[in-house]
Amino acid sequence: MTTDILTVTNLKKYFVIGHSGILKRKPITVKAVDGVSFTVKEGETFGLVGESGSGKSTVAYTTIGMYRPTAGNISFRGQNLFEGNRTRPLALKKEIQIVFQDPGSSLNPRRNIRQILELPLRIHRPGDNRLEEIVRLLEMVELPPDYMHKYPQMLGGGEKQMVAIARALATEPSFIILDEPTSALDVSIQAKIINLLIRLQDEFHLSYLFITHDLSLMRNVASRVAIMYLGKICEVAEAAEFFRNPYHPYTQMLLSAIPVVSEEEEKLKPKKIISTGEIPSPVNIPSGCSFHLRCPKKMDICSEVDPVMVEVEEGHTVRCHLYGQP
Ligand code: SF4
Repeated sequence: MTTDILTVTNLKKYFVIGHSGILKRKPITVKAVDGVSFTVKEGETFGLVGESGSGKSTVAYTTIGMYRPTAGNISFRGQNLFEGNRTRPLALKKEIQIVFQDPGSSLNPRRNIRQILELPLRIHRPGDNRLEEIVRLLEMVELPPDYMHKYPQMLGGGEKQMVAIARALATEPSFIILDEPTSALDVSIQAKIINLLIRLQDEFHLSYLFITHDLSLMRNVASRVAIMYLGKICEVAEAAEFFRNPYHPYTQMLLSAIPVVSEEEEKLKPKKIISTGEIPSPVNIPSGCSFHLRCPKKMDICSEVDPVMVEVEEGHTVRCHLYGQP
């Protein structure tokens, strides 16, 4: 039986971005993440997908400890990451790593690759032979050993991302958050990075939380997929079931817009769903179901009552009034 490595329970992260009213005392709050729950199982890739502003990156940054949650829990192998006032202990910092979207800005341009890879080794693995480990880390991401003498600005985008992945691997983690790891790269390089991540996952039994706006990418990469919209998860399912049998109108809308190459894939796609309107501002989230202003299937109840997650099939949950609300 596969065990859960990460459990996120009713996570909320609100930001106060200003004040309104005559006396400027009423806080203006952005509910970036508003009651998100999911689990990541040992050895799997859990895809968290959403448009810009959906809150998916805030989930990632809260998990890594860059933000403290406003409410809710995140636990790693059963240990609460935010118990009391402390953030993650050093042992958990070693276990959980992140690869950011833009390797150009996540690597210090004044340090060469050797220095970049040395830093996590010094903190988390003080007894190990650092030079040997740096060579091994570069080999793991398919870069030659002499790259340790180069600076980030001497590398291409894909090579920089390989160094960022090597840096994440330096602490020997079991869980890596991949925050849009390929979206800043040329299409020709994207497949190489994805194949590298899949190989490393097999080799080191890594668990991934894969954050992306690109739903089609998840078809071949994720074990399970969750869709986020305005700070909430609307649907979660095993990847095969998710693409074959989407329930939520928002998921159907996203899937119907994915370009496909074969007639068979075209037949499997949901019928084209035209949504109305733009994604609302996270400062002013609509009442009831937050998708109701864009939903072609909305009913009277949708603008008044926020639906809850219900299980429609084993392991497949949906938050929509169309399906058996309690
Ligand atoms: Fe559409 Fe209503 Fe379902 Fe929201 S709850 S997705 S508005 S049908």
